[in-house]
Amino acid sequence: MSIKLSFLGAAQNVTGSRHLLEADRVRVLVDCGLYQERKFRARNWEAFPISPKKLDAVLLTHAHLDHCGLLPKLVREGFAGPIYCTAATAEIARIVLLDSAHIQEEDAEYKRRRHRREGRKGPYPVVPLYTVAETEAALPQFSPVEYEQPVKIARDVEATFCEAGHILGSSVISVKVGSGRKERAILFSGDVGRRNMPIIQDPTRVKHADYVLVESTYGDRVHPDAEDVENELARVVNAAKDAGGNLIIPSFAVERSQDLLYHLNELKLAKRIPDLRVFLDSPMAINVTDVFENHPELFDEEMSRRVGRNRSPFELRKLKMTRTAKESKAINRLRGTSVIIAGSGMCTGGRVKHHLVNNITRPESTILFVGYQAVGTLGRIILDGAEEVRILGQRYPVKARVERIGGFSAHADRDELLSWLSGLREAPRGVFVVHGEAKSAKHFGQYLRDKKGWNVTVPEYGDKVTLA
Ligand SMILES: [Zn+2]
Repeated sequence: MSIKLSFLGAAQNVTGSRHLLEADRVRVLVDCGLYQERKFRARNWEAFPISPKKLDAVLLTHAHLDHCGLLPKLVREGFAGPIYCTAATAEIARIVLLDSAHIQEEDAEYKRRRHRREGRKGPYPVVPLYTVAETEAALPQFSPVEYEQPVKIARDVEATFCEAGHILGSSVISVKVGSGRKERAILFSGDVGRRNMPIIQDPTRVKHADYVLVESTYGDRVHPDAEDVENELARVVNAAKDAGGNLIIPSFAVERSQDLLYHLNELKLAKRIPDLRVFLDSPMAINVTDVFENHPELFDEEMSRRVGRNRSPFELRKLKMTRTAKESKAINRLRGTSVIIAGSGMCTGGRVKHHLVNNITRPESTILFVGYQAVGTLGRIILDGAEEVRILGQRYPVKARVERIGGFSAHADRDELLSWLSGLREAPRGVFVVHGEAKSAKHFGQYLRDKKGWNVTVPEYGDKVTLA
C-alpha cells in the first residue's frame, strides 16, 4: 500500500490547516481551515486542490477557524462524507462556523453597498465565502468520536483521537494505515496545548508514530512562567478598582474567556481581589461556556474539584452573562468598577467597541489585552499607544489606562513541543514541521535535528511526499 501526504495549508504559515492523506483508494483530509493571514486570504476563494467529492472523510483536530473554517465550502462543493471530531469540537465548531458565516454575509453586503454608492463594479460578483444556510447544511456531517477509541475510517485505515490540551475538545490524531509489517502510524498534532492550563486536561503524550506532523506556532520561543498570569491579573484588577473605573477585557470567545473566568474565580476565592461585578458580555462566549458546562468529563482535577464543591468559575459570585443588547447597554449605567469581558478579541467588531466608546476617554478606566493583536486592528492601535482612535466612525482621545498580560498562550512553546514529542518511545521515520511562520518552523526543525537527531522536513505549500 502506498501512502502519500500532501501539505495543503499551514505550511510555513499559521492558518489554513489542511493535510491530505492518501492510501490506495482512500482519501482523508485532516482539518479544513480558513486562511486568516491577509497575504494568504485569496486561497480561501480558490478551488480545493482535490475535488471534495473524492474525499472519504475529514478528521478535525479542533474548533478554531483556522482548522475548521472552510468546511461549509467543502460540503457545498460536494464533500458528502463524515467529519470526525470530538463532541465538544462539533458543538464549538457549530457556534464558530455560524458566526463566521454571519460575518461573511455581512462583509459581502457591506461591499455590495459600497460599490453601489461609489457607482463602480468589481471584477467578480460580491458573494459571501459561504452563507449561514450553507453552514447549517454541513452540520449533520459532524460525527462525534470519543478520546482514545479507534474509529474505522476505511479498510485498513483507523484513527484515534487523544486530548491535545489546547482548547476544550481539541485532539491530536493518530491515523494507522495498512496492516502487519506494512502498517504505518501517522500522528497529526493539530495545535498542542500546554500543561497546567486552566479547566482542561494536559496534552496526551503519544507513545508511537512512524511519521509526525507537528505544529510550530511558538517553535522559536519559550513562554514566561504560567503562574505569572494570575499574579498579573490580580495586579491589574486591584489597580483598576483603586482607580475607580471599569476594567474592559477584549477577549476571544473560545477558551480565553472561560480561562479568564477561571482565574478571576481563583483570585476571588483566595481573596486576592475584591468581590467585583463581572460581566461576560458576548453571546458567542456565553454559548461556548454552555458547551464547557455540558462536558465536565473533559475537566482536569482542579476544575472538577471546584465544580464538585459548587465553586465553578461559571457560577462565579456576581457574574452576569449578558445575552441581550438591552442587558449589555445597562452595564453602562453602573457606577464603580465592573470587570467587562467582551468580544471581539482584537476589537474588530462586537460589543467591546461600545464599551470602548464609553470608557476609552475616562482616565479611571482600564483596557486590558490578554491575547494576540494583529497589525492594523483597533486592539493593536490602542496597545501601540495611539493618542486618538476611531471607533464606530468617531474619533476619541485615549485617556484610559492600557494594560497587557502576555502569558495566556494556549500553544506549547519550543520546549513544551519537544517535551510532547519526547513521549515517543522510538525515533519516528520522519517529522514534518507545519503550522508556524517560516522562521519559527525552520528554527524548530533545526532544534529537533540537534536535540534528537531525527529526520525532519519543513514542507512548503503544495508539497507531496510518499511515506516509506
Ligand atoms: Zn488552535
